[in-house]
Amino acid sequence: MQTPDYQRLDRAHHLHPFTDFKALGEEGSRIIERGEGVYIIDSEGNRILDGMAGLWCVNLGYGREELVEAAAAQMRQLPYYNNFFKTTHPPAVKLAETLCRLAPGHLNRVFFTGSGSEANDTVLRMVRRYWALKGQPEKQWVIGRENAYHGSTVAGLSLGGMAPMHAQGGPLVPKIAHVRQPWWFGEGRSEGQDPEAFGRDCAAALEAKILELGEENVAAFIAEPVQGAGGAIIPPASYWPAVKAVLAKYDILLVADEVICGFGRLGEWFGSVHYGLEPDLMPIAKGLSSGYLPIGGVLVGDRVADTLIEEGGEFFHGFTYSGHPTCAAVALKNLELMEAEGVVERVRDDLGPYLAQRWQALGAHPLVGEARSLGLIGALELIDPATGERFDESLAVGNLCRDLCFASGLVMRSVGDTMIISPPLVITHAEIDELVDKARAALDATL
Ligand code: PLP
Repeated sequence: MQTPDYQRLDRAHHLHPFTDFKALGEEGSRIIERGEGVYIIDSEGNRILDGMAGLWCVNLGYGREELVEAAAAQMRQLPYYNNFFKTTHPPAVKLAETLCRLAPGHLNRVFFTGSGSEANDTVLRMVRRYWALKGQPEKQWVIGRENAYHGSTVAGLSLGGMAPMHAQGGPLVPKIAHVRQPWWFGEGRSEGQDPEAFGRDCAAALEAKILELGEENVAAFIAEPVQGAGGAIIPPASYWPAVKAVLAKYDILLVADEVICGFGRLGEWFGSVHYGLEPDLMPIAKGLSSGYLPIGGVLVGDRVADTLIEEGGEFFHGFTYSGHPTCAAVALKNLELMEAEGVVERVRDDLGPYLAQRWQALGAHPLVGEARSLGLIGALELIDPATGERFDESLAVGNLCRDLCFASGLVMRSVGDTMIISPPLVITHAEIDELVDKARAALDATL
């Protein structure tokens, strides 16, 4: 089949996620056929630098034969079996052991899921069950953050704080509240606050929400160490220590959603390590298998796990694909490769600092109000050079910049007028140079 055939059939039969289907229009979708290293290649032979690692997940890059081999070998041996009741299999056990070794603190157990959304559904059930077993069943409220993304299932979208999703979601899961995100450029700056005072204010907003709901009613706070899909929001240094203090004061569980930040993105195995957090629960997915096969999970700390195990009896929860052997084998190989190749250390000591230096130079571009990065996640805040303020939303300048990037061979994502990158963790200096040069050219073209 040729490109137009695929495009026609795509339009006729394929409902894409997060897509205005009508807006696909005559032009149709770009057909991505192959991947090599940090590049994707379309059906016309164009090489496009994937500045988003797919959807923040292809951490080891495309075309890793070792991962293909791991999948094939496991499929020959045992393509599928489940972990319900009293059976398990070597890939799930080895992966669980490896994850608990790599995870910080007392996260000594893992519950496997098929995705990050399922991981967050699992989180919600676990925290409410935990407090019920502790004799505090009224502790049901979970506090998340505005503009956060925690998945597309009903529980995931309810925990998340994306207003357009809430508007389409029908009745949301009850007893979930949201507080402001520590987005200094978008909120603190216009309020005339310096970033550190703003970070403390955001933690104070969390405390105010806890008191409003009644501290005896609040079960958990869920947040990403760095908010990813919400706009690569790197919190001010004051934020996490102040939040930790609030949670400790009211004995509220911390759920660190590591679906994006986990597995090296911030230059540590987990974003929680970068910020010195000790989460009670840690949902994971994406980079766990470098996106080669779908797998997620929840790392569970001793406090919650011991209670669920000792006092809970059977936990009526699980998925057909929880700990799927082929997905687990690929994830295990992915982690083995990351350890053997020192991928996480290289992000921390070399690639992260190199990107920061090149990326921050874009801050001088007239269209850019702020350029920030940490490890291999980065954002540009677009502003109107005439006023120094944000553009009118209806102009959709971010989307224009994103489309110009794509046309010129770079995937960069836009969240409103915040441009985001999150490239594979195996990117080279030369490829970072190419990424930054293409981003600059797209900014020039947007002007
Ligand atoms: N949590 C975070 C922080 C995410 O970014 C995502 C997906 O982007 C999810 C959860 C949901 O993961 P999935 O798409 O695998 O269901």
